[in-house]
Amino acid sequence: MKRVSIFGATGSIGQNTIDLIRRAPSEYKVVAVTGGANIAQLAADAIELNAEIAVTAYADRLNDLRAALAGSPVEAAAGEAAIVEAASRPVDWVMSAIIGYAGLAPGIAALKQGATLALANKESLVTAGDLVLRTAKASGARLLPVDSEHSAVFQALVGENMAGVEKITITASGGAFRDWSLEDMACATPEQAATHPNWDMGQRITIDSASMFNKALEVIETKEFFSVDPQQIEVLVHPESLVHAIVSYRDAGMMAHVGPADMRHAIGYALHWPERRHLPVERLDLAKVGQLNFNAPDPARYPALRLAWGVMELGGMAGCIFNAAKETALDAFIDHRIGFLDMATVVEKTLTKLSSDNGLIRAEMTLDTVKETDQLARITAKEIMQYRKG
Ligand code: NDP
Ligand code: MG
Repeated sequence: MKRVSIFGATGSIGQNTIDLIRRAPSEYKVVAVTGGANIAQLAADAIELNAEIAVTAYADRLNDLRAALAGSPVEAAAGEAAIVEAASRPVDWVMSAIIGYAGLAPGIAALKQGATLALANKESLVTAGDLVLRTAKASGARLLPVDSEHSAVFQALVGENMAGVEKITITASGGAFRDWSLEDMACATPEQAATHPNWDMGQRITIDSASMFNKALEVIETKEFFSVDPQQIEVLVHPESLVHAIVSYRDAGMMAHVGPADMRHAIGYALHWPERRHLPVERLDLAKVGQLNFNAPDPARYPALRLAWGVMELGGMAGCIFNAAKETALDAFIDHRIGFLDMATVVEKTLTKLSSDNGLIRAEMTLDTVKETDQLARITAKEIMQYRKG
């Protein structure tokens, strides 16, 4: 029986993971499930899956969680430290699907105890790639990608040698505004940005898809995960979202990964790896699809992509600053405090301001230094937004 824990169980990736586990209950022993504000969902899943422990990120929701679990044997806990403690419980496989920076510390704890970490939380690798990879190496834990593009690259690399790789292409749908003018994008609301043409995902990543901040994070994630040179990475807009990534080899051969826009494929691949098992995912009828389109992203419409290459060039703590500034700007956009295009301006200004401090960028990467840098970048981004308002 495989012992598993699911971090971010109440979210979009978490629920898709539970959907797969629920279909084969005799194969899994669920140890920990964690969530945030959605206590009812967390408790219902913990009880159904017979989890050992359910943890909410919010300390002030502990009593609500206890009440929702009353009468069941599931242990209740709350707060950041409790999530990290739950991640330290020995299991075989952990789904890392907390959104944002908050996913880093539990992911590190899971790697330390040697669990296979199925990584949906791309922010971990963007913020602290070196630390995550070092931790995995030290304990011998395996890291498997869950982001659809990275799962696609991983699959296109099976049996290959990295020395033969010339280029990695990850695709982008273009998000909600792919056909909008820049003028219209400037006035876009969070509600408009939170609709996706192809994928059904959480609110924050959907907005990041419209701005291509999601793709910018994924470019950095590609560099970290596959240890390639930034110049070997390419982004193409592919409106159908059926080709998720292409690995181009030295002999001009290209291995493309094709499949429907359903995260259960990438989650299932990481869950069953190295085997392939049947998954309840629609089969593509390519004759019906008919056409696949690709085009280069317009740099004027998607400044986030340019910033990603700047971050990779800087290295060190630049990814942490980039992610923290992006999360802060996204919060402000969701609260209607800044416009859609202002997000990239705030992130760029934060990066420019903090990257002049070489000591900060080159600081030794530990969970503590990453936390300090993350907090500094959030404060700086907030100051920049205040200044803009004033
Ligand atoms: P959701 O917003 O749907 O879910 C996020 C999860 O994290 C929820 O369980 C939420 O709890 C929990 N959470 C929120 N804040 C905190 C916090 N401070 N501490 C601990 N837990 C918290 O996100 P998604 O499922 O869309 O995305 C999860 C991760 O997967 C992200 O890193 C995203 O980039 C990545 N990803 C997602 C894809 C998708 O299809 N959705 C595709 C590829 C990658 P609650 O809801 O109870 O408040
Ligand atoms: Mg993706």
